[in-house]
Amino acid sequence: MTLQSEALKEKALSVGAAEFAAQIAGEVILPGDPEYDTARAVWNAMIDRRPALIVRPANADDVIAAVNHARVAGMPISIKGGGHNVAGHATCNDAMMLDMSLMRGVEVDPEARVAKVQGGATWGNVDEATQKHGLATPGGLISDTGVAGLTLAGGIGWLRSKHGFSADNVMAFTVVTAKGSVVRAAMDSHPDLYWALRGGGGNFGVVVEFEFALHPCGPTVMFAAPIYPITAGAGPIRFWRDFLADKHDCMGSLVEFSTIPESEDFPEKYWGLRCYTIAALWAGDADEGERVMQPLREQGELAADFSGQMAYCDVQKLFDELFPAGDFRAYWKCHYTPEVSDALIDDALRIAAEAPSDSTLSSIWNMGAETMSVPWDETAIDRRGMAWMYSLDSAWQDPADDEVNISFTRRAWEETRKYSTEGRLYLNFGGHAEEGEKLVREAYGDSYARLSRVKAQYDPTNIFRFNGNVLPASDT
Ligand SMILES: Cc1cc2nc3c(=O)[nH]c(=O)nc-3n(C[C@H](O)[C@H](O)[C@H](O)COP(=O)(O)OP(=O)(O)OC[C@H]3O[C@@H](n4cnc5c(N)ncnc54)[C@H](O)[C@@H]3O)c2cc1C
Repeated sequence: MTLQSEALKEKALSVGAAEFAAQIAGEVILPGDPEYDTARAVWNAMIDRRPALIVRPANADDVIAAVNHARVAGMPISIKGGGHNVAGHATCNDAMMLDMSLMRGVEVDPEARVAKVQGGATWGNVDEATQKHGLATPGGLISDTGVAGLTLAGGIGWLRSKHGFSADNVMAFTVVTAKGSVVRAAMDSHPDLYWALRGGGGNFGVVVEFEFALHPCGPTVMFAAPIYPITAGAGPIRFWRDFLADKHDCMGSLVEFSTIPESEDFPEKYWGLRCYTIAALWAGDADEGERVMQPLREQGELAADFSGQMAYCDVQKLFDELFPAGDFRAYWKCHYTPEVSDALIDDALRIAAEAPSDSTLSSIWNMGAETMSVPWDETAIDRRGMAWMYSLDSAWQDPADDEVNISFTRRAWEETRKYSTEGRLYLNFGGHAEEGEKLVREAYGDSYARLSRVKAQYDPTNIFRFNGNVLPASDT
């Protein structure tokens, strides 16, 4: 055991970790334990933090016990859902990490079209359970992303055009607050907390259960994925933008810039070249989707075309292999934008060509009709005037390349700031933790003050501070 680990273990034991471990059904992992390094790891390989203790609750009672233990010991808590947060908010130094991975249950009521989802579930867990009944709720694009972190900050997936953000579909949250109380937040119970949890992130407590509204979906859906070499230029992207004008209520789509791998799936002449995919899911009848989306596949020379009718669960795993957990160092940024101008498309093409790493992605996302239909003050997601988003997902493997990739991303983000909706951004693609308070205030805009009041009510001492942190009202 390293000296660092010994000191941390000492600290955990001094605040009664051994006695606490005996009280819960789940697990307590301390520095030096064989599982410690696996348990503290998160998706982004750049993040290397050492919690004083890691608690894996087995049920809501364990969560209550953990929160009470941390509060009495004066330790803040980080919460790990799927561990995908690029800033590494799931883990912490010298404090308690609550790893929710033993709480992944999903219970579906197909008659009521509701899924009860435990706070540590992944989207793969949800899709598998709900698709048995031909139902779904909007999730993310990767199956091992956590439901909790994605949903609490908004949640942007393929079904957004028809059914909105993931957060728009949560009918109720069961939350363990900083005082260790269990609260049900819904339209008719703790409405301010219900408002805050839909967009305000993990600031207000530990969500032990989400109740999601479900919608008929699949099981077979049409997915379009024509891949154009970057030399095809702006034409196909402009076509996609204009094509969406009367179809953004059914088509969840983005243009994703990437690099063609050395793979038999592509003709050799394209290997290593930059490209973009017009990726789109038709959230309706698959045959109709195939017919309607056909023109997206006919805008010039294609490097490949992976379009086809497929199982919704398979679409939800299509991109899993691009970014396996722990393989990449990463730094992501984004802007919401009210429109996609020709100038933005040109800049996006140029920036994609300049990316220092072949693993880096960047994307133009259409947010879709339903994400914009909800009144802006109904959830903490804030103004719904962001019809589009431009994101930079930089990923690389060698620590020696950190500086060049982070600088590239920041520069590209600054260069495209002129297209943003009043500086607004999606905090799940927000950057690294040290960018902190300014970024959080920019992201929430007019909603920040209200979030801050809700924070003061449910977490007045800021125990839950490893997130896009909203300060309790008295501190602002
Ligand atoms: C490969 C990859 C693909 C992605 N794709 C998408 C996408 O398609 N759409 C999209 O919208 N986003 C996407 N994201 C971003 C993703 O939504 C965020 O990274 C999100 O934070 C992940 O949630 P998580 O539970 O896995 O994260 P974690 O890192 O575990 O947690 C993130 C935050 O949520 C809080 N939290 C976690 N669990 C709980 C809980 N039970 N109660 C209260 N707070 C909790 C944590 O405190 C932390 O602040 C992607 C990220 C990656 C790495």
